[in-house]
Amino acid sequence: MKVYFIGAGPGDPDLITLKGKELIQNAEIIIYAGSLVNPRLLQWKKPQSRVYDSAAMTVNQVTEIYQLHCKDQGHIARLHTGDPSLYSAMGEQIRFCREKKIPFEVVPGVSSFCASAAALCTELTLPGITQSIVITRRAERTPMPEKESLEQMARSGCTLVLFLSVSMVSTAMKEIQPFYKKDTPAAVVYRASWPDQRIITGTIDTIADKMESLGIKRQSIIIIGDALNKADFDFSRLYAPDFSHQYRNAQFPNQQKGKPR
Ligand code: SAH
Repeated sequence: MKVYFIGAGPGDPDLITLKGKELIQNAEIIIYAGSLVNPRLLQWKKPQSRVYDSAAMTVNQVTEIYQLHCKDQGHIARLHTGDPSLYSAMGEQIRFCREKKIPFEVVPGVSSFCASAAALCTELTLPGITQSIVITRRAERTPMPEKESLEQMARSGCTLVLFLSVSMVSTAMKEIQPFYKKDTPAAVVYRASWPDQRIITGTIDTIADKMESLGIKRQSIIIIGDALNKADFDFSRLYAPDFSHQYRNAQFPNQQKGKPR
């Protein structure tokens, strides 16, 4: 039996990949992280497939299932929220599969930070503003490596995406303030792509209070940076008329439209 680690997307069941959906449809066993994965994804499962909610399980209990069924026919669909490459605990499960020679494959998904950027209708890498994104979190119960304190991460001043940090947002904003202008835009997306999605916008100075007054305490992505500014940025080079690349020759003002040089 092969284990498929599948990115289940941020919440909206339509945001899983076709491959992920098909793997749910044919799985003998489905293990899903019930705390964040939408149970509506289970509507596609075979009636006889067995379902486990990993929210109440330890990693050993999960990997025990992999081991117990590794000689069976078919596959296990292991659904992780968003994309499994980010804050998913997939690493330790893959290590287990490697050690036990259990076949596995990873199917990517739409991360909640991408769904949040979509909700904000924002390109996070705006030309002339920033071309980089730092994806990080604050230390809560999981400690952060010393070199990755929020202060260190904020030094570049690029777009900052914070996972798992809602409960400490006011401390987080204080930590980054020395590295960003006071009026740097900040946005919070609560439950991106779910029916009760909420968007809160402000600046690094105001966002913590706004979140507190709305009682937002979990399941949110925080995005900080001038990329959230709506209008003040350059055109991309890729689509610029005077820019040639593999698929298009540059056009110049006196050149006939549509005729490459
Ligand atoms: N692998 C996931 C992240 C799992 S860690 C991904 O790629 O999205 C769990 C954290 O992800 C939450 O604390 C929250 O910060 C974020 N998160 C997950 N789903 C979310 C959603 N629908 N909207 C906003 N944030 C979400």
